Amino acid sequence: MVSIEFWGGVGVIGSSKILISDGGHRVLLDIGLDIPGGKDYFRPPVRIRPERELADRLRMGGAPRLPGLFDPAALDAGDPLGEAAGETAVFVSHPHIDHVGLAGFVRPDVPVHAHTHAVDVLRALEATGEGLRGGDPDWHRLTDGQRTAVGPMEVECVAVDHDVPGASGYLVHTSDGVLAFTGDIRFHGRNAQRAWDFVTRAAGCEVLVTEGTTLGWEQRDNRFRTEADVERDFAALLESTTGLVLLSMYPRDIERVHAFLEIAAAAGRTVLWPSHTAAFLRLMGVESVMDAQDVDLSDVRAKPAEFVVVPDPADLPSLLDLPAGPDSVFVHANGEPLGPFEPRWEPFTDWLSALGIPLRQIGCSGHASQGDLHAMVERMRPGAVFPIHTTSPTRLHPPLGISRVIAEYGSSYDFAGRTR
Ligand SMILES: [Zn+2]
Repeated sequence: MVSIEFWGGVGVIGSSKILISDGGHRVLLDIGLDIPGGKDYFRPPVRIRPERELADRLRMGGAPRLPGLFDPAALDAGDPLGEAAGETAVFVSHPHIDHVGLAGFVRPDVPVHAHTHAVDVLRALEATGEGLRGGDPDWHRLTDGQRTAVGPMEVECVAVDHDVPGASGYLVHTSDGVLAFTGDIRFHGRNAQRAWDFVTRAAGCEVLVTEGTTLGWEQRDNRFRTEADVERDFAALLESTTGLVLLSMYPRDIERVHAFLEIAAAAGRTVLWPSHTAAFLRLMGVESVMDAQDVDLSDVRAKPAEFVVVPDPADLPSLLDLPAGPDSVFVHANGEPLGPFEPRWEPFTDWLSALGIPLRQIGCSGHASQGDLHAMVERMRPGAVFPIHTTSPTRLHPPLGISRVIAEYGSSYDFAGRTR
């Protein structure tokens, strides 16, 4: 019998880890780190001990105690988790830390897979000093539709839409039927059709494991903001601001980077990036990226209306070198710090207040709206659905005949959704 276990993503947004075992062979879907904030014991200002990071996390319950997954070199000497435990393979849905953050600690004989565009992002991050803790594993690159055999199972990579390149869901074909996993998914982005194609390809599956991020949100707006709204608001702010524009966006969202560069150019503004971000974007094939280091600050002070500056989120005092004040604006478009749940948010907003810089938040979500999640389940009609990666899984209400299972950490389920 095939079993499903959840070693993360239970009652929280992020840290997804789904283990599927079939005849002694194991597939692990995602291997995330807890996202900053919440109950992460290793959040700033706690200093991580690099040599002992995994062992320390395991001691504090900040990593799953799964045997035969982690590199014995990263474990305490003699930890039984270091013993091999049957064929195991890891599949990563997308290059965000809450889905890939522990991949650097996987034992060398366990292959780690991800979509080739996701691997491009992770390799570029590694090359520019922002790689995974524990170092990159030896990535196995996948393309859309590719199937990988793991014992009696086949794991099919299916591209979806999220806010980062290479985002994928997976269809795991097992002895007891198909388990579909969304990864992180949205239906209101630039590539919405990909997400709906995933739904079509997963139709009639026995088990759906879906992210449910927005189930925990109050959605007063009838309409979810889209990338078109973000671009329109960015263009309008560039138009209406007489001084310098400051910007925070997630550099891994390469499609939005391209869009913003075009909008800024059309408004006669040059975007200046921190050095490591500029290097990352160049490796990702974004042309004409300007490193702030290569521009004379006196040019920015002389003509603030000709620039958009992306400050280093870790270097708030650098704002003091810029002509930033009440006639400028800080545009926050899903960049760092990500939001009030992060310890870095309060100092960030304190600095803006002290300098009199108005803050405008214009982002849109990388996650499916509550309505789209329900439409997905209705169209896919799985036998059972497990909402994870959410604080409110009970807000998913599938149609009659589909059982909804609220997973418990470390418990084992069969393909009918029953506890084993
Ligand atoms: Zn996530």
